Formats: sequence, C-alpha cells, structure tokens
Amino acid sequence: MEDCIFCKIVAGEIPSKKVYEDDECVAFWDIQPQAKVHILVIPKKHLTSLAQADQQESDLLGHLVLVCGQVAREQGLGEDGYRVTTNIGDHGQQSVKHLHFHVLGGEKLSAKMG
Ligand code: AMP
Repeated sequence: MEDCIFCKIVAGEIPSKKVYEDDECVAFWDIQPQAKVHILVIPKKHLTSLAQADQQESDLLGHLVLVCGQVAREQGLGEDGYRVTTNIGDHGQQSVKHLHFHVLGGEKLSAKMG
C-alpha cells in the first residue's frame, strides 16, 4: 500500500530494528517505546486493522498472536508476563493504519489500559 509506513518497513524502504521475520509477518522495535520492551508484530499483507479482518484471515491472525508470544519469550518476558494490544480506529487511538500488535513488557505496566 502506497504511503503506508509499515508497508515500507516490510519492503525494506524504511529501516527498522527487526527481531523476527517470516513469510507472513515482521516484528520490530517500536520507534517510541512505551515500556522497556516494546515490539510491534505486523502482517506483511496490508490490513488496516483487526476490524478489517474476516474469516479468511483467521490463520494469519492466529499466527500473528503466536509470534507475539514467541517474541515475548525471546525477549525474556515469559516468566513475569507482558501485554499484547492492538488499537483500532480513531477511538482506539490507532495512529498507523496497518494492523499491528504491540508487545509490551520488561517492567510492571500500568493497570490502566489507555
Ligand atoms: P498505534 O498508535 O497503535 O497505531 O501504534 C503505532 C506505533 O507505531 C506507535 O507506537 C509508534 O511509535 C510506532 N511507529 C511509528 N512509526 C514507526 C517506525 N518507523 N518504526 C517503528 N515504530 C514506529
């Protein structure tokens, strides 16, 4: 998708600090981390948000969630726990309109969700 910053990261047109990549997705450090560990897991395919996904995407969505868990384990978050979130649309404060899961941890997070 033209003008999508995360599509540009997928294409290698914008640099990112990648921690994982496969045929379906990429995981990389958030440029403005909100916790000691803050990694984004995104599909290579452009989907605007979870709200745009339908049954056809169920395998992809399952894979993305499992990759969130794998990345968290690799970052040493498995024991103490962590948070996985995704923002949707304006009320959800989604600033980048390409589906992404935030993996946050490495410290005790705020109990407040947003
Ligand atoms: P959201 O507000 O849920 O749409 O989250 C978008 C996230 O993308 C924010 O946490 C930003 O800091 C992050 N972000 C924006 N541009 C980049 C980039 N070029 N590389 C890494 N993270 C980015």
